[in-house]
This record gives sequence, structure tokens and C-alpha cells, in this order.
Amino acid sequence: MFLPATFTPLWSSPAASPPGGLWFVMDRGRLLTFAAAGEADTLAVPQGDAPPVPVEGVQCIGLLDDVLCWAARTETEAAPSGFTMEPLRRLFDRLPDELVAVAGRAAQVLEFDRTHRHCGACAAPTEACDQGRGRRCTACGDVCYPRLAPAMMVLVTREGPGGRELLLATGRRFASPVYSALAGFVEPSESLEDCVRREVQEEVGLRVRGLRYFGSECWPFPHSLMVAFMAEYDGGEIRCEEGEIVDAQWFPIGRLPALPHRLSVARRLIDFAVAEAER
Ligand SMILES: [Zn+2]
Repeated sequence: MFLPATFTPLWSSPAASPPGGLWFVMDRGRLLTFAAAGEADTLAVPQGDAPPVPVEGVQCIGLLDDVLCWAARTETEAAPSGFTMEPLRRLFDRLPDELVAVAGRAAQVLEFDRTHRHCGACAAPTEACDQGRGRRCTACGDVCYPRLAPAMMVLVTREGPGGRELLLATGRRFASPVYSALAGFVEPSESLEDCVRREVQEEVGLRVRGLRYFGSECWPFPHSLMVAFMAEYDGGEIRCEEGEIVDAQWFPIGRLPALPHRLSVARRLIDFAVAEAER
């Protein structure tokens, strides 16, 4: 997902700004929303001087148009009357895309704070530093910054008897029954290109060539930076990795299965490949 062009990322509140703004209040990935206009499929986040629930760890995360955006953590078990707390991924298509993207930034900032309250080296408490970007140990001075996990995604294609075909797979850990491009996390000392070749070999037993960079995108579940590639099939028979890949097949572009959500980099990658093949 992408932050909208009208969003200006900030790490602290500009001194001259008025109080108030949009509140992205979360509890471990669940976002506080309410039904705008009384309709359950049109959600909004609270706006005003203060959020409607007790919060801690309040941090300014940016400006959407000219409105300040605040991230804050709550541990309220039940949302107050008129509000709901739901996992951010379940709010796609109900919350405006721009608010989903800003909530993704809030989720990463809040999760970093929640999971780095103590130093990983000496276990002493940490405190915010560098205007809230990082956390510094109060004993040994070790500083850490929000964790980002680079991950690659690759869409393998080949020329089949009836035209261009896409290799799509469905995995054991998928949240919904869709077929998608292959993906995996980069390992220490590995390049993105090495990661692509290794993951394709491990997950489906194929060789690829002709890697082409497609684009990158933040995927805050919980902190991935997805880097997407196109690749040409270079040999091998599909052999699904046990425990990871449930099924993988070559799909002609005219007969594609259920695909990932339009806000995902996977879907943009697949749509691009289809458009390129139809050109
Ligand atoms: Zn320390």
C-alpha cells in the first residue's frame, strides 16, 4: 500500500500547529473506527482534540492534507459504544484507501514502540530518541529503529501453447483462498536477486532468468518492504514445497483464478503482466 500524495510524513508535531487531528488508535494491529453516516461499510477514524478512549504512546506521524495524524496505543478490551476495533486487513474497501495507508504507518510505529520498551542488549528500559524515530537504552545507550523486513515477490511467466501464462500459487498461510505471485523474506548476506532464485527453487522447484524490477511497496503486516520482480521461466517441473505451498499452476492470462486484493503489490504485479501480454 502507498501513502497518498497528499500525506506528509512527520516524526513530531510542528510547533506552530493547532491541536487536534485524525486519531489512529490501535491495539496490536486492530484499529479503532466508527461507521460514518451510520453505514457499516463506510468507516472513518475519530477526529478532534482527543481520542474517545484512554491512550498512551501518542505520536505525531504526519499531515494528511493539512490535518495532523496521530498514532496512539490503547488497551481497551471493548471499543466504546458506536466504535469498533478490527484488524486493519479487514478494513480494506470499507475504510478509504488513504486512511488504510496512514493506519499502516501508525501500525508500524506503534508496534515498534510496543515491542522495544526494553533494550535487546542489556534489558534496561528504553526511551524515545531522534524525535521519536528510534528508541535509546537508558543504561547502555544502544539505539534501535523501527524494524523493516525486506521481502521479494516474483511473478514467473512463460509462453504457453495458447499465449502467455503466469505461475501462481496458493499457500498454507494465505489469509484468503487466492492465487498469488511467489514471495519470501530476504536472508542475511543474500541479494534480492539471489533471494528470488532461491525462493522460486524452494517453493516450486523451477529455475528462472531475465529478472526485471517492477516496484516496491510497504506491507505493514507487520513490517515488510515488498520488492517485486518479473521473471522468465527457465526450466524445471512444478514441485510444491511441503508445508508452504498448497498448489501452484501455470494459468493462461484469460483464465486466471481468484487474485489478491487490489491494494496489494501482488495484484498490481499480476495486472501489469496481463496488460503487458495483451499489448
Ligand atoms: Zn542497553
